[in-house]
Amino acid sequence: MASSVSELMGGNSSAAPTKKPAMTELERANRALRTLSAGNHTLLHAIDEQELLHAMCRVIVEKGGYHSASVAYAQHDAEKSIRWMAYVGNETGFLESLHYTWADTELGGSATGTAIRTGKPSIGRNLLTDPTYDDPAFARLRDDAIRRGYAATTALPLYVDGKVLGSLSLAAKEPDAFDDAEVKLLAELAADLAYGIDNLRTRIKHRQAQQLIAQLAYYDPMTGLPNRTLLLERMDEALLDARRQHHALALLHIKVGVFNELNKVFGYRAGDQLLKELSQRLAGVINKNETLARVGETGFALLLPRSDADYAIQVAHRLMVTLHDPVEIAAVMVDARAGIGIALYPGHGTNAEALLRRAKTATSYAGITACGFSLYTGGQEEINTRRLALMADLRRAIDDNALLLYFQPKVDMLSGQLCGSEALVRWLHPQHGMISTIEFVRIAEQSGLITPLTNWVLDAAFSQVYDWHESGMHYPLAINLSAYDLRNPDFIDRIGGLFSTWGISPELIQFELTESAMMEDPAGSLETLRRLKSLGTKLFIDDFGTGYSSLSYLQKLPMDAVKIDQSFVAPMTTSDASAVIVRSAIDLSHNLDLAVVAEGVESQATWNNLAHLGCDVAQGYLMSRALPADQFSAWSKQWAAASH
Ligand code: C2E
Ligand code: MG
Ligand code: MG
Repeated sequence: MASSVSELMGGNSSAAPTKKPAMTELERANRALRTLSAGNHTLLHAIDEQELLHAMCRVIVEKGGYHSASVAYAQHDAEKSIRWMAYVGNETGFLESLHYTWADTELGGSATGTAIRTGKPSIGRNLLTDPTYDDPAFARLRDDAIRRGYAATTALPLYVDGKVLGSLSLAAKEPDAFDDAEVKLLAELAADLAYGIDNLRTRIKHRQAQQLIAQLAYYDPMTGLPNRTLLLERMDEALLDARRQHHALALLHIKVGVFNELNKVFGYRAGDQLLKELSQRLAGVINKNETLARVGETGFALLLPRSDADYAIQVAHRLMVTLHDPVEIAAVMVDARAGIGIALYPGHGTNAEALLRRAKTATSYAGITACGFSLYTGGQEEINTRRLALMADLRRAIDDNALLLYFQPKVDMLSGQLCGSEALVRWLHPQHGMISTIEFVRIAEQSGLITPLTNWVLDAAFSQVYDWHESGMHYPLAINLSAYDLRNPDFIDRIGGLFSTWGISPELIQFELTESAMMEDPAGSLETLRRLKSLGTKLFIDDFGTGYSSLSYLQKLPMDAVKIDQSFVAPMTTSDASAVIVRSAIDLSHNLDLAVVAEGVESQATWNNLAHLGCDVAQGYLMSRALPADQFSAWSKQWAAASH
């Protein structure tokens, strides 16, 4: 059974199709061939699927002289409905009115429905005269054919990817149309059309895949921003332009300080959320011609293709304001703590890599400026490279036992006698000479070398105290500790082990800790300090006055003495403010039953002043600088002789 695409349209038109002389078999084959060749031409030029379907129907009607042509796609919904994609014929609004199905029901008995369902051509010839269609079931089909003026119909399945996608359906005015030869040629046309559809779809998929690859290669998947590669390409272009037109450009590097901590506390999703939110804020305040990119885990970069220092600073201001408001993450308001570094072409670099590197370098200095951003200055990179080189050298110096331990005397102010010393580590670098202790201790803290460094100092200090003890010098030695040492779980055991190894009495070893070291983890520090104290050693608060520890907190600590920082002591004879601070520090400490050591005593006047205020111990250049062990012994003998 077969029927036309329009047999169920209904209607009672009584108009009969115009009688025409029957076409010969050859004529029919010719028209099919003509259509096929015009169809091929259409295929070659198609760039869009919908366009192709429509063009194919037009070719069938205009070049082939068929009554009408349509393309339908099978829908895989519950009703197995048919979607009309294209129609060319003499009716307007024809497609919209067709609600067909390819299900195996009466409504699905159309040529189109049948072709889709069976996957085979469905042909209805001589609809008006063939007795098959005398059956009342075909009454509507005949009516439709009569009303719309066709006498034969054929629907050809369209196979794409091995499955029936839909059908190409044709109607002819001639009652004897669609013989075997014609259908064979038209089936070829349908196969060509299916190939054309497939080809276009493959091309689209290909294009999408290429776009995806480009997207992945050039964009950060998390924020959707250009990545480092695209930024560098855009910088190359912008640099070329700047060179030709003799103008400057700026690169800003924006580092989000809190990212790693956030990931640690809330998990990596929190960090991602923060970056997404910040990237949106930043993207919202930049100009169209400026490129905002994500470079590295916690950083963004902004290329200002035409910018001098003034403009770059203005933009940095704007970005800081944008980033200022906290971001809500896991119901907590998080302060992004961003820093911005700025590098300019041509002043700070003439190629993209160098500018990015320098903007990043400048970012690490942004944190120490009040405004939160920093312009690159030549020295920054030198310091950085130097730091990196020093890290490697320091590791070697510790391993090779190439560090030195110096000793600076502490003198009891009442008796004027030597009452102990402080161990101060020294590093005589083979190329750079004596390295500032503050600098390399900080490098050790930042590079994970602090534990080996502290261990080296502890070993050297214990063995020196043992030597002195053996030679009759029974002075306590104070060792400086870093915040990291307090967090090291093996630390206390190690100290305990050293006491047992050397058989030294606990009064001979003291520890100095800065306020800031203790404030980094007040609860944890308190625990470690208690355990240190329980070994029987004395504990000193170092650099007192430079931190912000509260009196109530200091009261809770198991400390024995306070060392007033040299920045207050050294100028106390010339600065009233320093004198006031030193005096109140001494009073306060005494009230808390803590002994007081003054650091940085450089002059007799300072000594006198401190003595007047009741300071207990003095340490400073007035008595001696820090000395190597043998010189320290010699100094102590001289000092003892002089003070008798
Ligand atoms: P600190 O513990 O406050 O050490 C006192 C610093 O003041 C020493 O500097 C010392 O040489 C210096 N000084 C002593 N008397 C005077 C003076 O009269 N005038 C002036 N202007 N300075 C004086 P140094 O040796 O450079 O040590 C700096 C800091 O490095 C120390 O400050 C301490 O915090 C740290 N440090 C030193 N050795 C070690 C160590 O073995 N381990 C650790 N973790 N830190 C250490
Ligand atoms: Mg100290
Ligand atoms: Mg100090």
